[in-house]
Amino acid sequence: MKLGIVGLPNVGKSTLFNSLTKAGAESANYPFCTIDPNVGIVTVPDARVDYLAEKYHSKKVIPAAIEFVDIAGLVKGASKGEGLGNQFLANIREVDAIVHVVRCFDDGNIVHVDGSVNPLRDIETINFELIFSDIEVLDRRIAKSTKGSRNDKSLAHEVEFLSKVKAHLEDGKLAKTFEVDDEEDQEILNSCNLLTIKPVIFAANVNEDELAGEDNDYVKAVREYAADVDAKVFVVCAQIEQEISELDDDEKKEFLEDLGLEESGLEKLISASYSLLGLISFLTSGEDETRAWTIKEGTKAPQAAGKIHTDFERGFICAEVVSFEDLKEYGTMQACKEKGLVRQEGKEYVVKDGDIIVFRFNV
Ligand code: GDP
Repeated sequence: MKLGIVGLPNVGKSTLFNSLTKAGAESANYPFCTIDPNVGIVTVPDARVDYLAEKYHSKKVIPAAIEFVDIAGLVKGASKGEGLGNQFLANIREVDAIVHVVRCFDDGNIVHVDGSVNPLRDIETINFELIFSDIEVLDRRIAKSTKGSRNDKSLAHEVEFLSKVKAHLEDGKLAKTFEVDDEEDQEILNSCNLLTIKPVIFAANVNEDELAGEDNDYVKAVREYAADVDAKVFVVCAQIEQEISELDDDEKKEFLEDLGLEESGLEKLISASYSLLGLISFLTSGEDETRAWTIKEGTKAPQAAGKIHTDFERGFICAEVVSFEDLKEYGTMQACKEKGLVRQEGKEYVVKDGDIIVFRFNV
């Protein structure tokens, strides 16, 4: 999973990104992740992984991971190609979801690019760039399909449909709020890979003393807006996160307690992205390695196996599954087998969060 961090200059993006990467993971364990100074890998805290690793004395422990990409430089005019803007927009096209950092703190010493703190205006500024870029994508696609429709009549519908989406964007609205009731149309829309269809999490960056207790007015405004566009909000203090990222686990706990908080902003961000993207984890465990794998809710066993290796998917025979809860309750695989709790599941099985799985496959 890859999340892109965007926001106007001086809202706290780098501060947040640095705290994420400092808390981050050894990238050697995640060969699929890009090695790039703008990319940080963060592991997903999961007590189940720790429990299994201890139980099986695993040599290697690999929690699920999220890749964060710092997409700085998205400024007014980016969609017109100003300030390397197009490249930043291309980076956003590759992420699964957008973390949009909005300044919700007052601080006279830190200049706001537009002169005053106003989260809704900031959101609009960024949205405008994304919408503008999407309109360009649609223009190109519509032109191509219009040409193609001379030979292929089915493309005429695509042109008509995408023109409606374009009109919606030209109204200043996001592609994700365009209502589609036809499955084929939805597929056409998805294939355009628009920026404004991507799930969004707003990181409302507040001052330290505003973290616990009631939301300030800026945050309230962000929440109201987010509800309209089906986005999530989490309140964070980037500065505090940076301090937290330098502490060890015990110190961190104490520090959070002093602030009246249960989890760090990073933990909140991870759970917000999991729920927003409909993600779950399944587990594999043994002496060599205990590992959590991230999949979309609804993924079937062969595709889950494919996350581990494409051969596992191709040669899939069955999945031997026990739930983490059952294993924890009865203590050993053997005990679970005797209770009939280790199931043989076939290729239609929908994997559940916390399933511990051994895949059987032909090579
Ligand atoms: P970016 O341009 O969005 O990457 O912003 P930076 O992370 O560089 O932050 C800009 C300035 O705001 C820096 O001086 C930060 O120390 C400061 N800053 C970041 N987060 C907070 C915060 O939560 N409260 C206050 N008061 N300042 C912050």
